[in-house]
Amino acid sequence: MRIVADTGTCVGLGMCEAMADEFFEVGDDGHVHVLDEYPAETDREFADAAVQACPVAALRLEG
Ligand code: SF4
Repeated sequence: MRIVADTGTCVGLGMCEAMADEFFEVGDDGHVHVLDEYPAETDREFADAAVQACPVAALRLEG
């Protein structure tokens, strides 16, 4: 499983960081940075909830 962020779509609202700050951080550039691109399979539900929380669908899980 890989977390993919489309920084061109991200508007820096930080919902993902609020949901899972071990995976996401909104940088000084106003865009999301994925801190852990390859979360453990046991974290799938958690990571998916954060991905779904993005209001502009800038995040997705692959694999
Ligand atoms: S929730 Fe979406 S728009 Fe907000 S910082 Fe995360 S990726 Fe960007």
